[in-house]
Amino acid sequence: MKNSIWNAVKEACVIVIGGHIRPDGDCVGSCAAMYNYIKKLYPQKELFICLDKIPDVFAYIRAVDEAASDPGDISADLFISLDASDPERLGDAKIYFDKAKKTINIDHHISNPGFADINYVFPDASSTCEVIYELLDYDMIDTRIAEALYTGIVHDTGVFQYSCAKRRTMEIAGALDEKGINKTKIIDESFYEKTYKQNLMLGRCLLESRLLLDGDCIISVATADIMREYEADAQDLEGIVSQLRMTRGVKVAVFVYELSAGEYKVSLRANGNIDVSRIASVFGGGGHVKASGCTLYGGLDSEIPKLISEIEKSIKEAL
Ligand code: AMP
Ligand code: MN
Ligand code: MN
Repeated sequence: MKNSIWNAVKEACVIVIGGHIRPDGDCVGSCAAMYNYIKKLYPQKELFICLDKIPDVFAYIRAVDEAASDPGDISADLFISLDASDPERLGDAKIYFDKAKKTINIDHHISNPGFADINYVFPDASSTCEVIYELLDYDMIDTRIAEALYTGIVHDTGVFQYSCAKRRTMEIAGALDEKGINKTKIIDESFYEKTYKQNLMLGRCLLESRLLLDGDCIISVATADIMREYEADAQDLEGIVSQLRMTRGVKVAVFVYELSAGEYKVSLRANGNIDVSRIASVFGGGGHVKASGCTLYGGLDSEIPKLISEIEKSIKEAL
């Protein structure tokens, strides 16, 4: 499998790398690491990254911005999909996926059906960056590739806290650390540090939160009105669902925000043995056992009770 991936890269002249919409640290880190590695290996290849707006906190991941230009009307020899559980999640990059002569899918989502010509999907891996690390020659990894991969691992493991962080994850993080990265800066500035607005939104959403199902479930909704009050956008809501999950006794945490009229982004997080990817899949979403998401359409008054009822079912089944 590794060989078929590197053969496909070798044979392609024009390569487009894409990740999921609303990119997170693992998505941005994966794309940047892959881009920098291929560029180093084959400087003559035409290489593009096609991503949604990259959150400002990842600006230090070098080359990702300069590469993230609109590829225009091209058809690629090879499309590499990173950290995307299905082609729909590729957003604007999907047209390049559809037109590419060959496609590769590198990921770690349990819900990934294997949608490309070559599929390299490991649901047990902490992150797509961990999966990519296993594909690379260690001696070829420089500081900029290492900091991109480290970022992805840090973000998808909640700084090595979640159960997806295994022995191998720690070994890889240690090996990347030896490449001269500034891990304290990466962790502090891209993960823990919050803007004043993010802190205000966190505070407001915690105040708005409600306990349901005898305290098994916590939910908070950031309506368009609340978002407008603080002039907040999606970036300003980072970390809220993680804080909700930390509520004692809670088995499932739900955070919802309004994307546009009648369209709501849902983040689900689990404690213990509840599988939230199953709940998300009922609503057309997916993700991981303990962290998943979906989009709800319609009115909150009708959709939230359906979601809570699925959560209740999962909690009962897990007893
Ligand atoms: P989030 O709550 O957006 O941080 O997402 C948690 C996890 O679920 C991530 O791994 C996402 O890639 C995945 N995810 C979020 N939303 C969706 C969706 N609509 N469809 C499939 N996977 C999703
Ligand atoms: Mn991701
Ligand atoms: Mn990921």
